[in-house]
Amino acid sequence: MPELPEVEFARRSLQRWLKGRKIVRSEAPDTRIFRGAERAAFASLRGRLVRTERRGKYLLLTFEQDRGLLSHLGMTGKWVRRTTADEPYSRARWFLDDGSILHYRDPRLFGRLEPFPASRLRELPVIRALGIDPLVEGLDATSLEAAIGHSRQPLKVALMDQSRVAGLGNIHAAEALFRAKLHPALLPEELSARDYRVLAKAILDGLHFALAEEVGEEISYVEEGGDNPFLIYGRGDRPCRRCNALVGSFVQGGRTTYFCPHCQARPLRSGAKKARSTRGKSGTTKRRGRG
Ligand SMILES: [Zn+2]
Repeated sequence: MPELPEVEFARRSLQRWLKGRKIVRSEAPDTRIFRGAERAAFASLRGRLVRTERRGKYLLLTFEQDRGLLSHLGMTGKWVRRTTADEPYSRARWFLDDGSILHYRDPRLFGRLEPFPASRLRELPVIRALGIDPLVEGLDATSLEAAIGHSRQPLKVALMDQSRVAGLGNIHAAEALFRAKLHPALLPEELSARDYRVLAKAILDGLHFALAEEVGEEISYVEEGGDNPFLIYGRGDRPCRRCNALVGSFVQGGRTTYFCPHCQARPLRSGAKKARSTRGKSGTTKRRGRG
């Protein structure tokens, strides 16, 4: 499922493909990706792309004459550039003045394309409801604690709450917690200032790592059978890349959480303060392997 890096990759791709180009024709069959928005408004999209923005997993595209488009990739959505109009699962497409065609393909139709006046995009309720975006706004211990510190949810679930931190999903929440050596079921109130500092950096590192992996015209999600580039996600019952312990998993908020029972051992809960210092010490005695 696309998370922040895939959406950011889509934003950069669209910006690159549309730079100096014009959309001369737009078309889209009638599918549910328009979510009640006006398909006719999409079909009337013409001209140049003025600006691309991303907030969490949403793309906000601004075209000439205050035309705008909100795009969400859902589970299987992807923007691709082709030279033909034939593209499997193409749900919407733009014909450009250089003969290329940009398709929004989405086999499972969980994505969204909603035309709005560009000046309204940032004010849409779904955008206003989003929490801090780690790449757009930056992230540090203070802003991360402000975002999730009051959550009563387990740490990983809190990180995936789009109204707290926008853009993290099952993959990148797990990656960040592994990098930070924090157990996914810890409560935010159990975290120390140091934990927040380490976790904020881990979130950014994981996102930048994923963005660096995404080069070329396309990306492949783990679900599509590509190599698994991740440190912990999807590695259940395989050796931890850091300590060789078997990677464990359990279900949290309806999603499978992967973690290393050794690197991310949960401290005994004899008071949060005490637990913190215990974890801090044990963290320095780990065997270090690759990664
Ligand atoms: Zn480990």
